[in-house]
Amino acid sequence: MKIAVYPGSFDPISNGHLDIIERAAKIFDKVYVVISINLTKETLFTPDERVLMMKDVTQHLDNVIVEQTSELLIKYAQSRNAIAIIRGLRNFIDYQYEMTLFQFNRRIDNDIDTFLLFPSADNLFLSSTSIKELVAFGGDISAYVPKELVKPIQKRIKEKKL
Ligand code: ADP
Repeated sequence: MKIAVYPGSFDPISNGHLDIIERAAKIFDKVYVVISINLTKETLFTPDERVLMMKDVTQHLDNVIVEQTSELLIKYAQSRNAIAIIRGLRNFIDYQYEMTLFQFNRRIDNDIDTFLLFPSADNLFLSSTSIKELVAFGGDISAYVPKELVKPIQKRIKEKKL
């Protein structure tokens, strides 16, 4: 069985993330989408909330499992018998960052490869940061995030007065 891990902060989840998950789920037998916990970073949603939201928007994908971890990514991937780490690639900035990360991970475990996947053109320019900014300035995010998340994201940003 070919198993992959797709890590991220997913704060909030965008159509770009979902795009990558759907593509990965077609290639691999099982995909663990894993919310990386970073307690030093202020987030919009807690890890538990992000897990619930991710489970909700991926429920149509039978081979996707959603978890959270505070472990080193490679250790987590090893514990799930993964052969690959999935990352989404939008531009050269992502590319540069991913090159470093991939080399770092490969030094730790040479048997776990990094798979870079491009989203569709509609999602190429999307980032969690731009979604948060758009909501904060009263913009419409319905084309950028799964529809069930539009209201929860708007509500949380209002509460946090971002
Ligand atoms: P971000 O804050 O940039 O959304 P995440 O840590 O949540 O970052 O992203 C997890 C992974 O998803 C990363 O590999 C990131 O490059 C990728 N990703 C983020 N947005 C998109 C997108 N619109 N299209 C494709 N991949 C994306």
